[in-house]
Amino acid sequence: MKIALTQLQMGPDVERLVLEVLRSGQLAQGPMVERLEQGFRDLAGTRHALAVSSGTTALVVALQALELESGAEVITSPFTFVATLNAILEAGCTARFVDVGADFTMDESALAEVLTDRTSAILPVHLFGLPAAMDSISAFAAEHDLALVEDAAQAHGARCGVRAVGSYGVGCFSLYATKNVTTGEGGIVTTESDELADRIRLLRNQGMRERYRYELPGHNYRLTDLQAAVGIPQLERLPEQITARQRNAAGLSDRLSGIEGLVPPDVPMGREHVWHQYTVRITPQARSSREVVASSLAKSGIASGVYYPRPVFDYECYRSHPAVVVAEVPNAYVAAREVLSLPVHQGLQEQDLDAIADAVRQVLA
Ligand SMILES: *Cc1c(COP(=O)(O)O)cnc(C)c1O
Repeated sequence: MKIALTQLQMGPDVERLVLEVLRSGQLAQGPMVERLEQGFRDLAGTRHALAVSSGTTALVVALQALELESGAEVITSPFTFVATLNAILEAGCTARFVDVGADFTMDESALAEVLTDRTSAILPVHLFGLPAAMDSISAFAAEHDLALVEDAAQAHGARCGVRAVGSYGVGCFSLYATKNVTTGEGGIVTTESDELADRIRLLRNQGMRERYRYELPGHNYRLTDLQAAVGIPQLERLPEQITARQRNAAGLSDRLSGIEGLVPPDVPMGREHVWHQYTVRITPQARSSREVVASSLAKSGIASGVYYPRPVFDYECYRSHPAVVVAEVPNAYVAAREVLSLPVHQGLQEQDLDAIADAVRQVLA
C-alpha cells in the first residue's frame, strides 16, 4: 500500500537508546523501564505508571489488583478489540455489556439499565483515540461504589477537558506495534492509588517484593529495558504526533463532507480525540457498499480497515461462555456493519489526504 494505516517513527534517537541498552548488559526491566514509566506519569498526570508486557496484561493486572470477588460483573463496551473481553475473563470476572453511542464509545446514559447487584466495575474503552464520556462515567461509578478501569490502549494523551485518560480510574495503555506509541509489545498501567500500584508491582513480578520473598501468587508481566528504549523517544514526540493526526483528521472531514451515505466521525464537546483511527460510517444510503469502497481504495494503493466487524461477544466461543452476558446492543451491531477506518497517521501529507478523499468520492459521490 502506498498509503498505509500506520507509520512507525523510529529515528536516530531510538537507535541510540536501544544501543545504549545493548551495551549496558542489562536487557530486562531496569532504568529504561523507569524512564518510560516517568513519561507515562507525566502524560496521564497520575502518581503511578507501571510498565507491563502488553495492553492485555495491563487490563488483567488492573482487574486482579482490584481484588474483585470471583464472578463479579464488569460492565464494558461491546464495540472493542477482543483483548478487553479476554482480560475480564482471565481475571475471573463476568462481562456485561452496555451499548455504544453515535461516537462508538460506551453510552453513559444506558449504564443504569445494565447495573446489577453483582456489578463491581466499569471498563470503558477510549475507542479509536476518543475518550469515553469520563466525567459522567466516573460520577456514575462513584455514586454506585464501582471500580473504574479505563481501556486506553488506543488513546495515549487523549483528554476530557484538561484531564487525561488514565487518570480517572486505573488506566491501561497498549504499546503494541500499531498503537500511537509502540515498543513492539508492551503496556502501561496508571493509577493514583499507592495500594494498587504496590499490588501491581508485586503481581507483575511473581508476587516478589524482594528476591524470594513472595507475598501473593503473581506472574511475569514485566517489560524489558530493550523495549522501553524504543518507546521513550516516541513518547517525547507524542504531542507533535497528536497535532499532526488532528490536522489530518480535520483535513479528511473537510474533504469528505457532503457525501451521501458517508458520516465522518463525530467528536463530542469537551473531549480531545487523538485519532488512533479515523473511522467513518458507510450507511445504507451510500451509493456503494463498504466492501466496494475498501477494495476501490486498495486499488489506489490506500489501506483501510474494519474495526470491528462484529460486537465482541458475537462469536460462538463467547456466546456459549458462562461468564459472558449476551446483550441487546443495537447500536454496536449497526456500527460493526458501517465502520471503515481510513489512514490518518502523522506521516500523511496534504496530497495523501487529497488522494484518500478522491478515491472515496470516486465510488460514493
Ligand atoms: C490493542 C488493544 C488492546 C490490547 O493491547 P495489546 O498490547 O495488543 O495486548 C486492548 N484494548 C484495545 C481497545 C486495543 O486496541
